[in-house]
Amino acid sequence: MKVISDLNQTPLVDRSLATVWHPCTQMKQHESFPLVAISKGKGAWLYDENGHALLDAISSWWTNLFGHSNPRINQAITAQLEKIEHVMLAGFTHTPVVELSEKLSALTHHHLGHAFYASDGASAVEIALKMSHHYWQLNGQTQKKKFVCLENGYHGETLGALAVTDVAIFREAYGLLLQDVFTVSSPDARKAKSGESAEGVAKNAAKELEKLFAKEHHNIAAIIVEPLVQCAGQMAMHSPEYLRLVRELCDRYDVHLIADEIAVGCGRSGKFFACEHAGIWPDFLTLSKGISGGYLPLSLCLTTDKIYQAFYGDQTQQGFLHSHSYTGNPLACAAALACLDIFATDKVLEKNIERSNDLANAFAWAKSDLRIEHWRQQGMILAFDVKNDFLKNPKTFSREMFANGLEGGVLIRPIGNTIYVMPPYILSPSETLQLGTSVQDALKKTLA
Ligand SMILES: *Cc1c(COP(=O)(O)O)cnc(C)c1O
Repeated sequence: MKVISDLNQTPLVDRSLATVWHPCTQMKQHESFPLVAISKGKGAWLYDENGHALLDAISSWWTNLFGHSNPRINQAITAQLEKIEHVMLAGFTHTPVVELSEKLSALTHHHLGHAFYASDGASAVEIALKMSHHYWQLNGQTQKKKFVCLENGYHGETLGALAVTDVAIFREAYGLLLQDVFTVSSPDARKAKSGESAEGVAKNAAKELEKLFAKEHHNIAAIIVEPLVQCAGQMAMHSPEYLRLVRELCDRYDVHLIADEIAVGCGRSGKFFACEHAGIWPDFLTLSKGISGGYLPLSLCLTTDKIYQAFYGDQTQQGFLHSHSYTGNPLACAAALACLDIFATDKVLEKNIERSNDLANAFAWAKSDLRIEHWRQQGMILAFDVKNDFLKNPKTFSREMFANGLEGGVLIRPIGNTIYVMPPYILSPSETLQLGTSVQDALKKTLA
């Protein structure tokens, strides 16, 4: 290991590479590939140490909804800091966590009126899986233990969440540690054969699920889905018809529906919850990422009164005995409340309709580019795929695109051959146009 002796003379990126083990990274690639040291952010822009500006087109890993250093969120956190920074949530409560739970319940029209908190997305998924499992145990249906997940789905990287994830790169090394699950076809609309609609693909995928449920429902606790967009799975989008059909099947076969809205929730899909596009409610709904506006780690699992009541009783063991040290952290809840306040007072969902139209216009060039296929959009997510024939090196395309984006002042992180943008909900029309042009320039350079 490299010990740096002169810290003052050594660039921050080199110090970082010496001691910080970066996530989702083969560290050796940083020998040839830039690590970026960010010193500040404002609005949709990040600034490195030399003042070089980067348009944050992916909301800092899909978390930042209202820009960096947002005065209203800053103020809410600062005000909360003066009151109480943290207190355990077992045996204690506080205003931010109560108000946040009430507001989220109201947003689900009280279908999902109970909120269980954690810090990261993966933990919220663990909570949904454990709650579903425990519910069936309490209900005397002890054989209902297995989970169903979708091909190409992503739900986080802790062992329970990874077991229901189907992205090879994350699973490969850990297969032996993971429980057995049923994996069914993704309703990915890109699979449509000529003449087939996205709805047709959804119906076929649901038929396959029906066969599995018919045979195995006695052994199945829950199915977990990412409503409308499998984000980590290359922004694969599907028809809301799939969610309606899955809801029906879950009702018919007595299986829980877990909607993982960690990425697509909080307005990303065009409605506050992606499930609203299908007019359904799940039994469990997980949120994280955008919920705190990208400020502080916060996640939660919303559920129904029916589930909650099953755990309510005289025996301690009948309770849901799960906890994290920072469960319901007041600062994070205050940030989330500030975000919900911005949604309401600024009519964000209405304004995002216009913003997503601007986004479509800014990327109209990609629709007519013959090297590109599967141009798609769902609310504030826009994605398209570069055809394999045009990739010089499929393995390095994403990294080269990232590097060329940096040079041109835009932060994008393609997934394989899929280029996507998922910007904060504050881009001005001119920033949106600039985003389209910067991505086009980076692509030109990468494919040249
Ligand atoms: C990011 C993500 C998670 C995991 O959240 P972490 O905070 O990274 O643990 C789970 N599900 C979906 C759909 C996600 O996009």
